[in-house]
Amino acid sequence: MSATPQSLIREDLLALSAYHVPDASGMVKLDAMENPYPLPRELVAELGALLGSAPMNRYPEADARTLKAAIRGALDVPADCDILLGNGSDEIIQLLAMAVAKPGAVLASIEPTFVMFRMIATFTGLRYASCPLRADFSLDVDAVLRLLETERPAVMFLATPNNPTGNTFARADIERIAAAAPGLLVVDEAYYAFGDSSHLDLPARLPNVLVMRTFSKLGMAGLRLGFLVGAPAWLEQLDKLRLPYNVNVLTQVAATRLLGSYPALAAQASAIRADRSRLADSLRAVPGVEVFASDANFLLFRIPRAAAVFDALAARRVLVKNVSRAHPLLSDCLRVTVGTPGENARFIAALQEAVTDLG
Ligand code: PMP
Repeated sequence: MSATPQSLIREDLLALSAYHVPDASGMVKLDAMENPYPLPRELVAELGALLGSAPMNRYPEADARTLKAAIRGALDVPADCDILLGNGSDEIIQLLAMAVAKPGAVLASIEPTFVMFRMIATFTGLRYASCPLRADFSLDVDAVLRLLETERPAVMFLATPNNPTGNTFARADIERIAAAAPGLLVVDEAYYAFGDSSHLDLPARLPNVLVMRTFSKLGMAGLRLGFLVGAPAWLEQLDKLRLPYNVNVLTQVAATRLLGSYPALAAQASAIRADRSRLADSLRAVPGVEVFASDANFLLFRIPRAAAVFDALAARRVLVKNVSRAHPLLSDCLRVTVGTPGENARFIAALQEAVTDLG
């Protein structure tokens, strides 16, 4: 008898459903926290030439030292910390999980949060443990401390600003959690560019803290580049699991050049931030809508009959994310990425029509 997927593949994998990416062709795409703006115009020609002369016949720089230097040039990475690069920060989550996946080990987070923490725990044979945020999505530090004590996680992920809630957790709370954590605490700052806090300095002071970031929300989602900052002793071990050349040559060349113009990328983030507050005001004016405070490039809002509203928006060619079934605290919640002013206006117009139609 020949093998079948059912006979060969791990049972826990057979039971999973794949991470679903909806088809957005022809739609106003406000579902994935992308930066809506193209490259700064002055960079297009230069980048074209750089990529045209990139040595595509060769493997990329194995230690990506040029790109890492560009990251240090743009951001305040502590001098005594190292940088590990990933093909998106998703890959870094996977590396961390693989590294600690001893039998019975636990990966922890809060809920609701980024779904990949739970998914990657499952992929790598870790047990996932979590504790809920409060109903207003604030961090229940005592609940986290209890979780740490009962579950003894090898690694805990804390996204701040958090996805999909958009709120930031206080520095003092993060430090309390780090002090109590029996394992690693990974502070995921995917959305740092849209808020006021940075924890990039923490790994230099707190030996069990690593900080993870991505350039996906800064206009480079298509390049797939994330990075982790931490003490060399940790990163040295993780680096053994990293597949050689995980960041391809085009990404290395493009990101190095773009980081040389970091102020232009940061300016786009500031514009998005200003548009976020205008979008929040417009959303709040729609009958029945509750908007949650956000330090990210998206807004979470609650609206009666969220699933029907999501469908009505999609019928009007506007794609947002329906998170209403992702966690009980998110009942009737949708998440919308801040787009260009024109996209935001189309979204609001479609939402108003949808609300009127649904009565
Ligand atoms: N962390 C958080 C909190 C996220 O929301 C995301 C993307 N949605 C990621 C990490 C992964 O980002 P990427 O793989 O694009 O770097």
